[in-house]
Amino acid sequence: MLSLPALLALVVAPVIGSFLGSLVLRLPTHQPLLLARSACPHCGHTLGPWELVPLLSWLVQFGRCRHCHGKIDRFYPMIELAALAIAGGAVAVVPPEAIGWTCLLGWTLLALALIDRRAFLLPDVLTLPLLGFGLAATTALAPDDLPDHVIGAALGWGGFALIAAAYRALRGRDGLGGGDAKLLAAGGAWLGWAALPAIVLAAAVLGLLEVGMRALAGHAPAADEPIALGTWLAVAIWVLWLVGVPMVGMIGPSGL
Ligand SMILES: [Zn+2]
Repeated sequence: MLSLPALLALVVAPVIGSFLGSLVLRLPTHQPLLLARSACPHCGHTLGPWELVPLLSWLVQFGRCRHCHGKIDRFYPMIELAALAIAGGAVAVVPPEAIGWTCLLGWTLLALALIDRRAFLLPDVLTLPLLGFGLAATTALAPDDLPDHVIGAALGWGGFALIAAAYRALRGRDGLGGGDAKLLAAGGAWLGWAALPAIVLAAAVLGLLEVGMRALAGHAPAADEPIALGTWLAVAIWVLWLVGVPMVGMIGPSGL
């Protein structure tokens, strides 16, 4: 039997995903944010309410426009599915009182990961609220841990030097924006200071894997081509939140 927060998270997830898709596409270009796309990019047919229902509309229409049968970009259904998977992960792993916070973390990280991947950008309007929400979540879920998480946020910001060094080792040059420091600070706010080395290490390993995979596929990134480390920081924070860090005890909500 699903708890009320679990049910709510699963029901709103595709709608949130649809909004996140709009955020990911429009935030880097400073376009006004709308709930979702409004017209078919092929024939200009204005989409009715039923054609805007997240996920279902795409499934029912077999990924094609009802009018011109043009292929609908898979970006929206994919991000709607990702938002649903995040809610599913939260429901499966954390206790009901932590589901809302966990979804908030996961959905924000999803947007950040995709924006960094597409535009090499981690907007302050996402990273700074995420930091604040991390401290708020700690206050709500494990108030005794708050000092550790405040220190985590401060050290994460300072840990910029550390990930900058990791990036230099990875790419042989400087390539980090201040957004990475703010995202790491948010990670510290959610997970506590003790998780910071694990976040940085996991992100560096994932970034290294990406370079390796691309090299294997014959697309080794050029020396001056940036790697979106923020994407891997986001993945690392999400995974560490869900599993906790066994070495230093449970940091995430699973340790409540
Ligand atoms: Zn069309």
